[in-house]
Amino acid sequence: MSLLVIGSVAFDALETPFGKTDKIIGGAATYISLSASYSTKPVNLVAVVGGDFPQSDIQILENHGVNTEGLQIKPDEKSFFWSGKYNKDLNSRETITTELNVLGSFDPIIPDNYLDCKYLMLGNLAPQVQRLVIQRLVNRPKLIVLDTMNFWMDIAAEELLATIEMVDVLSINDEEARQLSGEYSLVKAARKILALGPKFLIIKKGEHGALLFHKNKTFFAPALPLEEVFDPTGAGDTFAGGFIGHIAATDDCSFENLKRAVIHGSAMASFCVEKFGTERLLNLTQEEIEAREAQFEELVRVQPASVTA
Ligand code: AMP
Repeated sequence: MSLLVIGSVAFDALETPFGKTDKIIGGAATYISLSASYSTKPVNLVAVVGGDFPQSDIQILENHGVNTEGLQIKPDEKSFFWSGKYNKDLNSRETITTELNVLGSFDPIIPDNYLDCKYLMLGNLAPQVQRLVIQRLVNRPKLIVLDTMNFWMDIAAEELLATIEMVDVLSINDEEARQLSGEYSLVKAARKILALGPKFLIIKKGEHGALLFHKNKTFFAPALPLEEVFDPTGAGDTFAGGFIGHIAATDDCSFENLKRAVIHGSAMASFCVEKFGTERLLNLTQEEIEAREAQFEELVRVQPASVTA
């Protein structure tokens, strides 16, 4: 089913307790598209990069079934650049630099053949640009998922609230849910955030899994306890890509299927953190993905008392 993804396509410089990288390919839409491409193809991408962005990196996306016709290249400008440093526990990080560059004046031009998309994934980006994409589509998609971060809550709160009101699913982390709602309890936070408009709320809790809220129902998916976590960058976006990819592939927006999508997204994110940047997402096999999903199910399976007695 047709999936449209927008978000940052970027250069990232990362520092974790295990090492540092120079500028490598990153960005929310990069992780989302790669992750979704394991469930559904093509993934139609709308984003912007500068003249400094290598053709070889665009080719990597194309090789994964990502349609880059909507990727604008601004030859005289620089790509979005983000750098971050992780603390020892790898669950928290500090943003060192955010250079918007081309993102500062991004006008999301949507190719005609993307306009009637059924599923829309609004990856991390200025909320006014995310909203413009919704407004430019010919029909409202069946499901709109929005991912954002504290950066936009700090500098564009009003714009963000106006965008949140228009979407079906909001995906944020626990710190962001607390900031957005002003509530420490995630249950209270969820209630307040759902009152802002979205029908579903996902709260990502890093190595502690993810929560899905809908009306008065709650679902929890653990994160896989991994022996080695190398670099959590992009885990949230990879989760979101897996989530929307699964829904687009199955064309089913029921709560039960969204629960399965959360498990699939969690499995995809668990791969992402095993290597630096996008590396681990480049060569996955369907067998590996299915085996990992089975590990997730095993992690929380309990036999009914009547069977174990
Ligand atoms: P995640 O680790 O899933 O939260 O996402 C990390 C990715 O988000 C990196 O690849 C960054 O390039 C991208 N990113 C960081 N800050 C922003 C921002 N303000 N707007 C858009 N993308 C961003």
